[in-house]
Amino acid sequence: MVNEKARFEASYVVDLQTGCWLWARSVDSGGAGRMRFQGRLRQAHQVALLLAGVEVDPRREITASCGRRECVNPEHLHQVARVNNPSRSLRYLGATRRVRRTQDG
Ligand SMILES: [Zn+2]
Repeated sequence: MVNEKARFEASYVVDLQTGCWLWARSVDSGGAGRMRFQGRLRQAHQVALLLAGVEVDPRREITASCGRRECVNPEHLHQVARVNNPSRSLRYLGATRRVRRTQDG
């Protein structure tokens, strides 16, 4: 467990502007990171949540609120019910984030 956590932490780079943890290792065709964890090849998203102590529901899809497929920051990741058009919900989440950032500035 400790070794896998260290391996995970060595597999991303932090984007200081957005707080995103950008996966820097192998990705699947959809651009999502993958790594072997507890004997199984898993999505990096899932590993991020598991290491953060979050229970992963395999029936749900993991999306990043920042809209970046390669982001593995557990604070940006949310498990959502599978929907027919995931790209639309990602765009929606990205839009709300832009609005929030505008208000901060
Ligand atoms: Zn992010």
